[in-house]
Amino acid sequence: MITNSALSRRKFKVANVYYDKDADLKYLQNKTVAIIGYGNQGRSQALNLRDSGVKVIVGNVENDTWKRAKADDFEVYTIAEAAKKADIMFILIPDEIMPQVFEAEILPNLEKNNLINFASGYNVHYDFINLPSDMDVTLIAPRMIGKGVRDRFVEGTGFPSLIAVHQDASGQAKQLLLALAKGIGTTKVGAFESSFEEETVVDLFGEQVMGGFKMFNIRASFELLVEAGYNPEAILLEFYLSGEGVESQKAAMEMGLWGQLKLHSTTSQYGHQTRGAKAASEESKKALKEILDDIESGRFAREWKTDQMTGYPVFKSIWKKNLQHSFIKAETELFEKMGRKKHEQ
Ligand code: NDP
Repeated sequence: MITNSALSRRKFKVANVYYDKDADLKYLQNKTVAIIGYGNQGRSQALNLRDSGVKVIVGNVENDTWKRAKADDFEVYTIAEAAKKADIMFILIPDEIMPQVFEAEILPNLEKNNLINFASGYNVHYDFINLPSDMDVTLIAPRMIGKGVRDRFVEGTGFPSLIAVHQDASGQAKQLLLALAKGIGTTKVGAFESSFEEETVVDLFGEQVMGGFKMFNIRASFELLVEAGYNPEAILLEFYLSGEGVESQKAAMEMGLWGQLKLHSTTSQYGHQTRGAKAASEESKKALKEILDDIESGRFAREWKTDQMTGYPVFKSIWKKNLQHSFIKAETELFEKMGRKKHEQ
């Protein structure tokens, strides 16, 4: 149980939340924003900012993505040229290649008081990127996939983000950050003030626990039931392939986690709360703490960096091993039996 004193011992202060009324687009007048990378986040954020009246250019490698940005009517340049032309840069390329691209193409083209904005705190928090001290450095980390960033802007509903100022060289970093947050549409529902450290730790922990732990828990439960003689089809339908879980997740967004439980049968409510609690044993809390320690100490980030620098041996072997598991075969067979296409990435 978390006590009130644990809540008041928080490492990070209670978040200020900023809305449209707190931000002013006038700070972006006469500024050129370069969107570096026109992928998931890049395209959506570029379109949103332009629709908000901001001057936006795109920096990308010259290929099909470049053509897509051109077709969307943007001025497109190499990353180095875009960095030279811009006052503000959104670095929206994959985190693992960001340090090299930043060092080679962006850093030599920066000018005093430029603003560098990230969508993830990762490289800055772990010092994988060297930032000159005479720059503004900010964070707008949407809690939303790129497609949602655009769709919700167009619908006028917005999406939440964590925002932070890491360096304020110009003395205007906060106003600029809020204006940019408004421009991409996040202050419509709330931009939550955070830090590069908090965003990084919570994001990694969320991916590894809410995502990773859950996946392996599903697979271990599948193994257990198959060994006990139950049919893979019945198990996979119950666990996630029917889509019931998605509906519960949507209901949790509307009603809260415990609120959505009332939509389940009373037997389910009883089982959730008596048996589900066993999953939060001291043993599993110990495993969660180990995961958090790896993130906070930088062990996870260093391990992942080493793998990248040596040709991804661990990354490749875990993918290979996991795709060979009998679980994948059972899953594919069930898709076929239901006449559904299993989309491959
Ligand atoms: P993407 O994988 O979609 O980025 C693709 C872009 O990066 C493309 O323009 C691609 O160019 C370019 N790129 C890839 N490799 C290189 C390279 N070697 N040199 C130069 N450019 C390259 O990234 P995301 O949008 O997913 O992520 C961007 C940032 O946003 C990251 O910091 C991420 O953590 C953060 N973020 C992402 C979220 C998401 O939902 N995806 C959510 C919140 C934050 P090309 O196509 O021409 O190869």
